[in-house]
Amino acid sequence: MRKPKIVILGAGYGGLMVATRLQKSVGTNEAEIVLVNKNDYHYETTWLHEASAGTLHHDRVRYDIKDVIDRNKVEFVQGTALEIKTEEKKVILESGEIDYDYLVVSLGAEPETFGIKGLKEHAFSIVNVNAARQIREHIEYQFATYNTDAEKKDERLTIVVGGAGFTGIEFLGELANRVPELCKEYDVDYHKVKIICVEAAPMVLPGFDPELVNYAVSHLEKKGVQFMIGTAIKEATPEGIIVGKGEDEVEEIKAATVVWAAGVRGNSIIENSGIEAMRGRVKVQPDLRAPGHDNLFIIGDCSLIINEEINRPYPPTAQIAMQQGEVCARNITALIRNKTELETFTPDIKGTVCSLGEHDAIGVAFGKKMVGTKASFMKKMIDNRALYMVGGPSLVLKKGKFNVL
Ligand code: FAD
Repeated sequence: MRKPKIVILGAGYGGLMVATRLQKSVGTNEAEIVLVNKNDYHYETTWLHEASAGTLHHDRVRYDIKDVIDRNKVEFVQGTALEIKTEEKKVILESGEIDYDYLVVSLGAEPETFGIKGLKEHAFSIVNVNAARQIREHIEYQFATYNTDAEKKDERLTIVVGGAGFTGIEFLGELANRVPELCKEYDVDYHKVKIICVEAAPMVLPGFDPELVNYAVSHLEKKGVQFMIGTAIKEATPEGIIVGKGEDEVEEIKAATVVWAAGVRGNSIIENSGIEAMRGRVKVQPDLRAPGHDNLFIIGDCSLIINEEINRPYPPTAQIAMQQGEVCARNITALIRNKTELETFTPDIKGTVCSLGEHDAIGVAFGKKMVGTKASFMKKMIDNRALYMVGGPSLVLKKGKFNVL
């Protein structure tokens, strides 16, 4: 009898969790498992703000997929998925196609620019290793040319970050540490540099405890970050951005670097494949399958789960993607063993910690609020735990964060 074929799209937090759990739970005689990913490496998306600011080398952020999968059990295909043909049970890749009996989509997020003019063309987004490397090099180039090029001097030293949510704040924390190093390296007066955070909402880090938010804002302000809260980016241009507080009050901020960190949506493949979604995120059933598709699991940033307590979607996080990966692997194992009862996914939020640079952070973990080095230590433990969950102690030793003080 032909073995069922399980195809996993994306080797991020969710996809790798499914692959590494399935390789343990499913025998080679039970199913064929194929993992498809754009690159032959996995990257820790939650560390990309560090690589973007240049406080952590991009090679520290990634590791080879072959180091964590059992190649006797999981076939790895390096390829870019373009479309899912659910009726025909196949995925179209940039080079060729692949059929499946069960499909897991864990292709992560894309920036959501909300139709703001010029953002796609003139702003960077922290989305993957290539983007992070480009942001780091772009910023460094501005400092490197400041003293040699008479043109656009002030703009070169102005960095705008769009969004004061989690990603924006974590990136600002790294930038605030990196800028003094760049000033020293390239003979630039630190007081000439401007780091501006523009946020349309009336608050920083919505959903966070106000006391923790105040700590984060005053920490970043002390390090030179200027906040423009309740201010929307109306347009990005080759020269910078245009912001507005209302219809009439508009202002141009000239900046050579604009990084958009104010929103994400699910991978566009979802919508391009005709799967019902809201901003590329599929409101999945409790067993993580897409409504109307018995063999299609959607996890991570491409999925949407409602927090019943507040009747709002959970924000997309690595924490949820990994937990979904475990449940998804168990549900697929059940299906190939002809079991009909599938497990319901319920997020178990252990806490949230937002870093403010290498040795500072704010957060809540196991119900306790924390700030400073304690929170920063917790953040590193969370990062190391994610490595451990996928690759065990050897991966933690290879890639873990141990510089806790
Ligand atoms: P990802 O982990 O992003 O993986 C997607 C994978 O799919 C990648 O390997 C990618 O290369 C691959 N891929 C994409 N398109 C294709 C294609 N067409 N074909 C083939 N492969 C493809 N969450 C937290 O819980 N805590 C945090 O502290 C935190 N910090 C963050 C900081 C930053 C800077 C950012 C950007 C995000 C942060 N997040 C955090 C959110 C978290 O990173 C995401 O929720 C998580 O990565 C989602 O996991 P995923 O498996 O859906 O996608």
